[in-house]
Amino acid sequence: MKYTSTRDASIVCSFEEAICSGYAPDGGLFVPASLPHVDAGTLESWSGLTYPQLAFAVLRLFIASEEIDNDALEAICHASLRGFTNPDHAVPLRFVGGMYVVELFHGATFCFKDLGLSAVIQLLSFFATRRKTPTTLLVATTGDTGPAAVQAVSDAHNPLLTLLVHYPKGQISDFQRKQLTTVQSPYVAVAAFEGSGDDMDRPIKNLLQKLQTKERRLTGVNSYNIGRPLMQMVHYIWAYLRVMETLKEKPGNPDMTVNVVLPTGAMGNMVGGYMAKQMGIPLGLCISGVNVNDITDRVTRTGQFHKSAAMERTLSEAINIQLPYNFERLLFYLSGDHARIKEWMTTVDLTSKNDLPPDWLQLLQQEFQSERITDEEMCAMTRQVRDDFSYIIDPHTAVAFCAAKRRGYYCSNNNSDSNSAANNNTPVILLSTASPCKFQEAVTVAIGKEGWDRYYESEFPARGKALMQLEEVEPVLYKAQGSGGDDALQKSQDAWERQSLDIIKGLVAGKADP
Ligand SMILES: *Cc1c(COP(=O)(O)O)cnc(C)c1O
Repeated sequence: MKYTSTRDASIVCSFEEAICSGYAPDGGLFVPASLPHVDAGTLESWSGLTYPQLAFAVLRLFIASEEIDNDALEAICHASLRGFTNPDHAVPLRFVGGMYVVELFHGATFCFKDLGLSAVIQLLSFFATRRKTPTTLLVATTGDTGPAAVQAVSDAHNPLLTLLVHYPKGQISDFQRKQLTTVQSPYVAVAAFEGSGDDMDRPIKNLLQKLQTKERRLTGVNSYNIGRPLMQMVHYIWAYLRVMETLKEKPGNPDMTVNVVLPTGAMGNMVGGYMAKQMGIPLGLCISGVNVNDITDRVTRTGQFHKSAAMERTLSEAINIQLPYNFERLLFYLSGDHARIKEWMTTVDLTSKNDLPPDWLQLLQQEFQSERITDEEMCAMTRQVRDDFSYIIDPHTAVAFCAAKRRGYYCSNNNSDSNSAANNNTPVILLSTASPCKFQEAVTVAIGKEGWDRYYESEFPARGKALMQLEEVEPVLYKAQGSGGDDALQKSQDAWERQSLDIIKGLVAGKADP
């Protein structure tokens, strides 16, 4: 399987080049040159597989065996899932509110990002070793990507694989910060910047473009990296197969589709699902729950893809996003037109906004819908799900529950008759993206201190409790420059880029070693 850029079909490269460079050389995103078709027979044969076996079967379709042979790929899939509570069944499903809640958070850092990132980092570690090429990973995080990357790089423990992670100071939970600052690995550096969510995206994109050489690889592992959506297809297929099993239906029947509801930020999770759908997995509507940072909601309703003036603080900060980069992949899969994507995205790159032409908007609306959810609604929903089912959910999952409720998918009991009626007989999967243990502050706002305390005593994972006791190492600080406005941001970003560069040089030179 070869890879190409969303913006230019004449760019053709191997899987290794695609995953090791993050962005395509023309600033577009990598996509597989084609999507294989998965027929009903294949889906049926996948029903009995464990999670690592399914991951292998899916990834095998996208990675030529000359690049990674079967044994190595199998080992990579197993290693990727080792951090999960039950690797063979890494993603359990529960029936809550008339929907199949897909718990994606049983990995090392209690978030769905463990699924995609641990695989990507195992793959990068494999290539770094085979090429004997030092590889440095760059990450900007609004919360959950950083911890998952730090854990995965620390676990890979490969001197050729180092990581620099950036997070917006004061804008991640205490638990997440501890996940970043308590890992003792010579291969990991952590920096905090005085800015918001995606303010580090531009410096990172610049560094990735400027610093790439033959002797040293720099790779972004946010979800613009194609490895993330690829691995994130697996949990859609897994969930679909489990639902068919429960309903005693043969998988692959195109008349028996499953709708998906999920909390959406950079759309990496969503694109994984859409790629699976394009391969023939019978998925129906995809409904995104977003918070008041609502560009995804605006573009699906009106076609306006306009970066908002400022990032709003919310209680679901992992989905605070101003420009979701995977929208480009979505448009690509909707339209298949590289030249128009290039033109359209170039305007977005230059002006931070563009409007969808009517034909694209129509295609988008046929398959994607969204709901904008305020913090108050999210909190009320968290209480309702607790009251109805004694089930505690995290703020991002609660955003998805709100979206499901608006659609009429949510039932206050699990009585199957009322569920079928509400859902028009279409089963619904709801992707639960994080454990509530990561978000004490937000969960406490929703269910009160007493509610949190009860959760802490009865359900809070022991591994999480141990983390809270560990000593933190102060991260490097990138200070804001000037006094507000776009000019100041630009100045800050230039300064931060230089600071990052210095840290990267240290990591590559092995100065990170104690
Ligand atoms: C990252 C994240 C999301 C959003 O996923 P995207 O792929 O960026 O859309 C949702 N929930 C949680 C908890 C996350 O960490």
